[in-house]
Amino acid sequence: MNKFQFELMTWKEIEAVVTECKGIAILPVGAVEEHGPHNPVGTDSIETYAIGLRAAQQTSTVILPLVWFGNSRSLMDFPGSIGIRPEVLKDYLHDIILSLIKHGFHHPILLDGHSGNYGALDILIEDIMLETGVKTVHVRAWDLASIAKPTETPVYDGHGGLSETSAMLYLAPESVDMPAMQNCAPEADLSIYGSAFPVPSSLYAKGPAIFPMWMGELARDGHHGDPRLATAERGEALINVKAAALIEFITLLKDGAIHFRSSPSGLGDPQ
Ligand SMILES: [Zn+2]
Repeated sequence: MNKFQFELMTWKEIEAVVTECKGIAILPVGAVEEHGPHNPVGTDSIETYAIGLRAAQQTSTVILPLVWFGNSRSLMDFPGSIGIRPEVLKDYLHDIILSLIKHGFHHPILLDGHSGNYGALDILIEDIMLETGVKTVHVRAWDLASIAKPTETPVYDGHGGLSETSAMLYLAPESVDMPAMQNCAPEADLSIYGSAFPVPSSLYAKGPAIFPMWMGELARDGHHGDPRLATAERGEALINVKAAALIEFITLLKDGAIHFRSSPSGLGDPQ
């Protein structure tokens, strides 16, 4: 299989590839939103596509065109953030997944690179299961795997910080504004609400009381962490380790090592 990018294939090639891919198709979903004054707004999408592309190539599966926009509504006080309502995102992805199922891709994988999408995509995969019997996989790209951070990394490292800046220095170095990098600690202390904030990769409290906040309340310039610690080498290692974890998962799925229970009666089975 020498083609794995869906948009570059003919319908004949797609028809033929379904069997070879064992019905696996990767749909990358990102976001267009601010990532501090130093990173491009496409950061989440660019990272996600890079991981998915490597995985599709290595596993002889296909990757669909990237869905650039996601739910970034809490970042709307920064220019460049595009906020898609979760229900709109869910409906849009629903129709893409149903189309894939119709064409024989019975193992769709949503490769999700943005935490603001998590809730909508979790509901979507349940909807799809109830509607069709197909079990779509929701992969949280940033949770796939990681590498140790340097000891001097601040505890509040997160959005637009060490890891994402490193990934951008590797994938799109010309888009990173090096002189704009600065250490930025969160403005808000959520610990009085039972939160463990700042927890890496979470904008919100991990405690029992959760409330929405604007990104600008948490971080004045839209990031938390010290991006000056970022390197392209670290970014390459991060992308590679996440891709390797995804490749391992897809290989298990392809080999039939991950078993799904069949649908309860009355619900649709994959067709
Ligand atoms: Zn991000």
